[in-house]
Amino acid sequence: MKCPYCSTLDTKVIDSRINQTSDITRRRRECPRCEGRFTTYERVEEVMPVVIKKDGRREPYARNKVWDGIQKACQKRSVPTQKIDELVNSIEKRIQSFGLKEVPSRTIGEMVMLELHRLDKVAYVRFSSVYREFRDVEEFVAELKGPPMPHDDSQSLAFPFASGPDSNTVASPTSTNTSQTQ
Ligand SMILES: [Zn+2]
Repeated sequence: MKCPYCSTLDTKVIDSRINQTSDITRRRRECPRCEGRFTTYERVEEVMPVVIKKDGRREPYARNKVWDGIQKACQKRSVPTQKIDELVNSIEKRIQSFGLKEVPSRTIGEMVMLELHRLDKVAYVRFSSVYREFRDVEEFVAELKGPPMPHDDSQSLAFPFASGPDSNTVASPTSTNTSQTQ
């Protein structure tokens, strides 16, 4: 660990203790060159479950994808960046509370929609229209009345994350699939 005073790389641990809940190790360090002392804290990084994509593939959870999706939905709205951080934090906490090893990308998307609905109605409509890939307003209204029914017509993919080759954890508003099939 680099000395914060003189940048010497090789510092010594002179004391090491674990806190009461055994999840943080506090280390007292000393620099052999300038004799400066400082403290470091070590904790386990919080682990997010693996994301199951619509096509069944698994990928590591990526906070930035969720964040970007929300940020795009909130563009030109009076939503502070800090609010987006808080929103993503609360979603992550809830996902972690499930205690699962894997979570469907759909679940994450639906949690985002729920939070945006509370936060900013315009952002909510933007996010959900991209996310759900509605072809028209009627489909959107129908969606609000009840959960989507899975069907065999692969051309009319109203289900989340059924979009093109690049469908990620959160669909991006710039990649809206506008193809009309009927
Ligand atoms: Zn030093």
